[in-house]
Amino acid sequence: MKLSQRITDINGGGSDGWGVFYRARRMVAEGVPVTELSIGEHDIGTSEDILRAMHASATGGHTGYAMVPGIDALRRTVADRIATRTGVPTTLDNILITPGGQSALFAAHTAVCDPGDTALYIDPYYATYPSTLRGVGAVPKAIVTSPDTAFQPTRAALAQAAKGATSLLVNSPNNPTGAVYSMATLTAIAETCIANDLWLISDEVYDTQVWDGEHISPRSLPGMADRTLVVGSMSKSHAMTGSRVGWICGPSDVISRLIDLATNTTYGVAGFIQDAALFALGQGTAVEETVAAPFRRRRALALAVLEGQNIVRPVPAQGAMYVMLDIRGTGLSGEAFAEALLDAELIAVMPGESFGQAAAGHIRVAMTVADEAFTDALKRLVRFAQNHAKVDAK
Ligand code: PLP
Repeated sequence: MKLSQRITDINGGGSDGWGVFYRARRMVAEGVPVTELSIGEHDIGTSEDILRAMHASATGGHTGYAMVPGIDALRRTVADRIATRTGVPTTLDNILITPGGQSALFAAHTAVCDPGDTALYIDPYYATYPSTLRGVGAVPKAIVTSPDTAFQPTRAALAQAAKGATSLLVNSPNNPTGAVYSMATLTAIAETCIANDLWLISDEVYDTQVWDGEHISPRSLPGMADRTLVVGSMSKSHAMTGSRVGWICGPSDVISRLIDLATNTTYGVAGFIQDAALFALGQGTAVEETVAAPFRRRRALALAVLEGQNIVRPVPAQGAMYVMLDIRGTGLSGEAFAEALLDAELIAVMPGESFGQAAAGHIRVAMTVADEAFTDALKRLVRFAQNHAKVDAK
């Protein structure tokens, strides 16, 4: 039987650079002691008190169908959190609770793109972006950034890509590069959207992980609140990846349409998960800082290990739980480096190429193992790179 083109086209075909990740997972399953610095999963679980709140809600009976847009208290709490952080008036009518940020990305693009519309995104990108855009029937078009501009998109590149497009997807703090977009970059993004009548989808799931600079939501820039859909999530901020709870914040008429979509797709998020999220947000920013603290610490450890050599160069890691390393000094591609590192040192990292062409010759290191193991792995990684560069130079 024939399947729809939309579903068979989702993955786009070709090598996606995830081979190292899957090989490492197979090795771990066979008992090989691989240090996994590949995916964005905290090394701590969801905290005990959030789990207790979840359990109390479930045993208290909140196991039936929950309100499709989200329970009022959670929508209101998310709205207040956004209003406080951005200064943009935001109410419960601006919020849809979703099963995580990923489904929010899909829903947001479904809301604004018709089949065949051009949907822009920035390269390097979070791995699902092009497939999410294809999944809604849009035609993905990358705006390629450069290590020379710290992977921030330039005004010229934005303007060139924008003509005839429908939407632009941005992500700051950025996965995989760790870039936190500057006010100048965000102003260029906003002005490009306004000049070309684009929707902006702003993926802000790492908004609590900023090490250098300041997170500014582009929704707060002049003229942007009516054309921006912000994607948020409890996954990274509260180590609730498996709970699948996030949100879209946008104009109330768009949220109202998105509720129609949710009614016919997810039918909302489990009530006990929403109660746990409500409890977690109610704990204030101290909890978010506690969850973020290991990454802040390990970023400093990484920069210390990388000092005093220039074969492995860090891209300015301003935010998120990754450091991106430029390994072009070894003469290897990111993919060849990652494959060889796994064989030689039993360390799994992601090749830059899995995140687009702009990240070729780079690797992404997730800071998701305990400090000592992390430092040790990075030292071995640097030694491996230096040895390789020497062999290459001979
Ligand atoms: N956006 C970015 C940039 C991510 O890195 C991730 C997950 O790694 C997501 C969205 C999706 O997160 P979730 O669906 O867990 O909220």
